[in-house]
Amino acid sequence: MEKFSHYIYFDHSATTPVMPEVAKVVYDTMTLYFGNASESHLFGVRAKHILENSRNIIAKSINCYPDEILFTSGGTESNNIAIFGIAEAYYKKGNHIITTEIEHPAIHMPLRVLEHEGYDITYLPVDGSGIVDPQDVRNAIINKTVLITVMHGNNIMGSIQPIAEIGRIAKENDIIFHSDAVQSYMNANIDVNHLNVDLMSISGHKIYAPKGVGALFIKRGIKIMPQIFGGGQEKGKRSGTENTPGIAGFAKSVEILSSNFSQRIKKTTELRDYLRDGILQKITDVTYNGHPEKRLPGNCNFTFKHLDGSDIVRKLDEYGIAISAGSACKSAAADISDPLLAMGICPEFAKGSIRITLGFENSKEEVDYLTEILPGIVSDLRNSYLSLKEKDSNKYFIF
Ligand SMILES: *Cc1c(COP(=O)(O)O)cnc(C)c1O
Repeated sequence: MEKFSHYIYFDHSATTPVMPEVAKVVYDTMTLYFGNASESHLFGVRAKHILENSRNIIAKSINCYPDEILFTSGGTESNNIAIFGIAEAYYKKGNHIITTEIEHPAIHMPLRVLEHEGYDITYLPVDGSGIVDPQDVRNAIINKTVLITVMHGNNIMGSIQPIAEIGRIAKENDIIFHSDAVQSYMNANIDVNHLNVDLMSISGHKIYAPKGVGALFIKRGIKIMPQIFGGGQEKGKRSGTENTPGIAGFAKSVEILSSNFSQRIKKTTELRDYLRDGILQKITDVTYNGHPEKRLPGNCNFTFKHLDGSDIVRKLDEYGIAISAGSACKSAAADISDPLLAMGICPEFAKGSIRITLGFENSKEEVDYLTEILPGIVSDLRNSYLSLKEKDSNKYFIF
């Protein structure tokens, strides 16, 4: 894959580059097979063929029927359709929804809206490694519970939730179960039957396909109230001319990533552990957040005591390395619960967190470069904070 020279990309949980083979398929679909899939002439038929072939590929990758795949504009829309679509279709059953404290804003914000409309939402806690206890899910169920939504892999500290077990509990209690698998898709084995999910969200741009395309798995027999109305595409569940270039690219990505699945996951996991060991060996007063094994292959999350994650991000950017601050508490949506705080990390330290997320195209040399320069950055920042503090305390002392 082509890279910016002198710049290292370690932020794959935010988004991924589009693979050249995928970009080629998108380009060809835009320029050659550009027809509207609803039309019956040659152009329409070709587009329809691409659409349904893509649906087959994606269905196969999660072990479901093609008619259980609804194409959307991405993970956010899939989550919104799952939440509002189920709440509205099954409103007679009740107004209680169970979720966790560590969901993505694309789950928490729609739930806030429902809360505002009178829904009762239970936010389950997680343990110190960022994992929810299935027994807590069982205990939270009441006869008004209409939906359980628990993410598969967390986007901040990478923890992988016991989805199959929660799914079994949902099934036993006859409650619809949705999982946001945007981070896990193509990074973990995702089989909707094994996981016992009724709905599941996935997104293209987290798996080397373009932005603005995604899908929602909706199990046969589960009803949803459509959220977009119009020409009746996608069997009336989501109107609007299908994004055939994006969908074709999405499917191409799935094909490529499925073909080297185990090898790719193994390589990324080894590189992640190598990075973790390098940082823990070279830097003091740092903790590795999340579960040691039950986590996404490329995810590293660290907390540096007495530091601000955004300062580390800024410094690394100057050195040509892109990472992310590990905590959501500094983001624009300040009222959104922070997964690190949910995990029990105290707010004072949580802000000193960074997230480094690797992709298959990252190399050992890139990781070596990071672990070479990060110790210096951390000690410089710590020293400057200390001298600032001293100045502050002097001032305090004098006045
Ligand atoms: C990125 C992400 C989303 C949002 O997906 P988009 O395709 O960007 O809308 C939802 N959930 C999780 C866990 C994510 O990481």
